[in-house]
Amino acid sequence: MLLVLAFAPLKLRAQTLVIDGATLIDGTGRPPVPDSVVVVEGSRVVAAGPRGQVAIPPNAQVIRAEGRALLPGLIDAHIHFLDFMPQMFLRFGVTSVFDTANPTEWILATRDALNSGRIKGPRMFATGWVIDGPLATSNLNHATEIGGYKTHVENAAEARAEARRLIALGVNALKVHEGLPTELLAVVTGEAQKAGLQVVGHAEDARESVLEGGMRFLEHHRAVTHSTVRGEPARNVPEADMDPALFDPLIQILVSNNVYYNPTVSRSILHLLSKEREWSELGLQYLEDPAFRFIPEPRRQYWVRAARNLPPASVRSEREAVGRRNVEEFIRRFVNAGGKVLTGPDVAGTSGPSNLPGLAMHIEMEALVDAGLTPMQVIQASTQWSAEFLGQDRDLGTVEPGKLADLLLIEGDPLADIRNTRNIRTVILDGKIVDTTLDPNFRSPLPRPVTGGNPLEYMGPAVSRISPVIARQGDSAVTLEITGEKFTPRSMVRFDTAEVSTRFVSPTRLNATISADLLRNAGTFAVTVITPGSGGGTSNVIYFVVNFRD
Ligand SMILES: [Zn+2]
Repeated sequence: MLLVLAFAPLKLRAQTLVIDGATLIDGTGRPPVPDSVVVVEGSRVVAAGPRGQVAIPPNAQVIRAEGRALLPGLIDAHIHFLDFMPQMFLRFGVTSVFDTANPTEWILATRDALNSGRIKGPRMFATGWVIDGPLATSNLNHATEIGGYKTHVENAAEARAEARRLIALGVNALKVHEGLPTELLAVVTGEAQKAGLQVVGHAEDARESVLEGGMRFLEHHRAVTHSTVRGEPARNVPEADMDPALFDPLIQILVSNNVYYNPTVSRSILHLLSKEREWSELGLQYLEDPAFRFIPEPRRQYWVRAARNLPPASVRSEREAVGRRNVEEFIRRFVNAGGKVLTGPDVAGTSGPSNLPGLAMHIEMEALVDAGLTPMQVIQASTQWSAEFLGQDRDLGTVEPGKLADLLLIEGDPLADIRNTRNIRTVILDGKIVDTTLDPNFRSPLPRPVTGGNPLEYMGPAVSRISPVIARQGDSAVTLEITGEKFTPRSMVRFDTAEVSTRFVSPTRLNATISADLLRNAGTFAVTVITPGSGGGTSNVIYFVVNFRD
């Protein structure tokens, strides 16, 4: 292990940072280096190796790290970003994230704001919205349909146009869903390849999506299950019907085609695992910590309720136990055959309390060790292999000279117990020590545009009731009491097209005065609430009747 790059003349040198004395686990899978010295200049690692082989430059800022382990910053290879999340990733040592489905223009603007430091958070890579097959074959209740970030293509021309449109907008990869027929998937992967990008997503059948569709990143376990069950998979625990005799032929196809596999164990088969309750309780500890109150209250409450309402740890049925063993056996054989698993627990608006941003990475890492991977393999799956898939391995994923200095310093030995990755002492992003203290007032300057559907996510005001609901032509002023949600001191009431005098009482109550001149004409008039500014909106309409004069 070596080596020191030539030092630039002193006056040109950027700030030098040294991590001194840690056990270096560099993400490459090589044996750990005890008592290491890692030198960072500006944003890059310039030297890394055992003490004695790496010189400590004078005037460097030195972090003493005896008894600690130094890893590459974690890369979460599968998230669906919501705007309150960025500081949570850094808090848990996740320095890069890959978003695989969100409104395209918004997620790319957010990505650029994160990557330029305008929003504090991890580096981001993103696919924009999902390309799926013809509308009739997909489930309209799916969250991505409601959020409006999925497109349906009917034929090759549409698939090509959509892929090109997303590539022109600047996505880092293309995302597909399983409703996309294989021949259209092949069109999408062909366009991606021309642009030097990959296709990631859901698949119906792993073998066909890889061999005929050209996919190189399978999200979730479902496609593998489908390809290793003889006949139709059962609805109830289909994993129990996986035939281990079919594993190796499929693994051979996946490995020889360099397919990255993201099983989302702690999400997709959480119900088969014995630690569901333990992990939910871990999530609950954070949700109840006042430092986490920046999470929008309806969502925080939703997660708290979900964690509290989980039934007591139940014994898994024999069928569930078999299903779990099959999934874990497949993962083990896949990695031992040279396959690359990616850690990415699918943090999303639909997540449960054990799937909190950042924390979920550590839970998924534990789940992969429980499945039988070594801690070293799991660390690679969480760093080097994800960087490789993203085409970022020149800059990210390992601690080596020339790489960007995204680093994680933890207490204890993660190779002895992978849960030690949670004992985070220092997070370094782009060569700078990150203050991981959570900002209780954090609000994204780019709130996520959500157009209704999910009550946990919509931003704008909503009106449920007004009182009174009627007046008479020629009446003098009427005071309206308006009941609803998400009112702010800046909210204004509009009567027909006129803004009326509004008084903020509480987030669920406004008072408004309808003046006499608005009551001159009989009719049924729209009352709405408008909250101006970034993240604001216009409420639903509720009607007020002006009756004819006596
Ligand atoms: Zn997902």
